[in-house]
Amino acid sequence: MSSRPIYLDNAATTAVDPRVIAEMNSCLGADGDFANPSSANHVYGREAGARVEQARAEVAALVNAAPEQILFTSGATEANNLALLGAARFHRNRSRHLVTSRTEHPAVLDACRQLEREGCVVTYLKPGPSGIVEVEQVAAALRPDTLLVSLMHVNNEIGVSIDIGSVGRLCRKSGVLFHVDAAQSAGKLPIDVQSDAIDLLSLTAHKLHGPKGIGALCIRREPRLGLVPLQFGGGQERGLRSGTLPTHQIVGLGCAFRIARESMNVDIPRIAGLREQLWGVLAGIPGVELNGDPVRRVAGILNVTVDGVEGETLLLALADLAVSSGSACASLHAEPSYVLRALGRSDRQAQSSLRLSLGRFTTPGEVERAGSRIRAEIVRLRAGEPRSGALLDVADDPRYNAEVRRRLHALPGWGALPDVPSVAKGRAGDREQGAEVVIAVRIERNRVAEARFQAFGCPHVLAAASWLAETALGLDCGQLAAWDWQEAARVLDVPPAKFGRLITLQDALRAVVRNWPGAARSTV
Ligand SMILES: *Cc1c(COP(=O)(O)O)cnc(C)c1O
Repeated sequence: MSSRPIYLDNAATTAVDPRVIAEMNSCLGADGDFANPSSANHVYGREAGARVEQARAEVAALVNAAPEQILFTSGATEANNLALLGAARFHRNRSRHLVTSRTEHPAVLDACRQLEREGCVVTYLKPGPSGIVEVEQVAAALRPDTLLVSLMHVNNEIGVSIDIGSVGRLCRKSGVLFHVDAAQSAGKLPIDVQSDAIDLLSLTAHKLHGPKGIGALCIRREPRLGLVPLQFGGGQERGLRSGTLPTHQIVGLGCAFRIARESMNVDIPRIAGLREQLWGVLAGIPGVELNGDPVRRVAGILNVTVDGVEGETLLLALADLAVSSGSACASLHAEPSYVLRALGRSDRQAQSSLRLSLGRFTTPGEVERAGSRIRAEIVRLRAGEPRSGALLDVADDPRYNAEVRRRLHALPGWGALPDVPSVAKGRAGDREQGAEVVIAVRIERNRVAEARFQAFGCPHVLAAASWLAETALGLDCGQLAAWDWQEAARVLDVPPAKFGRLITLQDALRAVVRNWPGAARSTV
């Protein structure tokens, strides 16, 4: 059995279905349909062209469109850009107002920012606590000069779905274009561009077990919808998307969509069942909360916030699971998810969130193992939170030092010693800022005889606290006061972005020094 992590990141991308790979392979070699599909003057080109048109029909069939409505793009990013920039630039002299939401994919949000630079006005709707934009919010945002409403069908981070049919009918009635980013929903929820009154629909292959680098924009047929192209060249795709058609990619898209259409009735309930199995385990852990609406959602995405565990530490502990977190935690500038922030989660909660996304190849065994691994790690990490622990607890008791002193002095032979064992404790930081540290040291003969810590923080904070606990042994109060976080940063190779958290550790240590019995005034 392979030792690779369990793959639960299907909302980021999926493995290509072997049937899709086989069809794509048949478009690459000298024996296959490798020719330029636009080369209609020879049989190679005509055969490749037929494969492209067959794929176009498969893509159209999944969303109840006609084949001529499908325009191939490099993916949903390009489809979103072409829909928004293309429509807004075409109508630039007429209507300049657009409506979208704060939790859209960057391919929509950044296209809107670009349109704002070009003179458009954009309304960004704020979804409710469940992450869903309601049709009433859209209705309230429409203006006489509104050109287009752009909303995602399913949110890629939390998996909630909006009622596209209601929004579509509202837009149609109001004479406003409706664009839907269906990257996460195609083949997973029913989409009917006719009855849902969708004018522009963005699709991609790689979220549905097809290849990366291919997608489509489905465009309303009647009345004709004007778009300004993003690129110019050979005039392929009716001049809207120039560039040689990538036959193998298009055939992969078509095949992936055909399989999805044929297997939806079996795949989707199965994946939803696996998600419920996983949620059944996670819901039983105190402090684990579901992000997003519990009912109006896609089958494969589960997003949870885990209270009481720092996000990066949790992700590191779960290295045997391939999942996404609520932040770009691997980068130095760990930005909490703007989607979770928009739902009212704090920065810290957003960072302590996990997105678990399942796909066609996810097995019940994988889900079971993932659930028990997550539960075990949450329990283990919480045991190390600033909470309890003999040395740490006892130091909180103001009577402790006096009592220990009294008792030890009462013992034969101890009364004569100049120093008696005692405990000094210090606390600093708070969780919302990413680090909370408690340090306690047991003091014998004015030196550290034992040091313990409890910390809520990223792996760097935990490592530096462990290092401190070791290096503090034998130090006196003055030496402890001189302990320098910068040396910990050097020794442990801590990135500059995390220095602030090490200063929290130093602050806790300063508090220990202040609480050092008898020595505080002279050292700090
Ligand atoms: C993945 C995704 C995209 C981008 O699709 P690409 O094909 O990778 O460009 C856009 N929107 C949503 C909602 C997505 O999940």
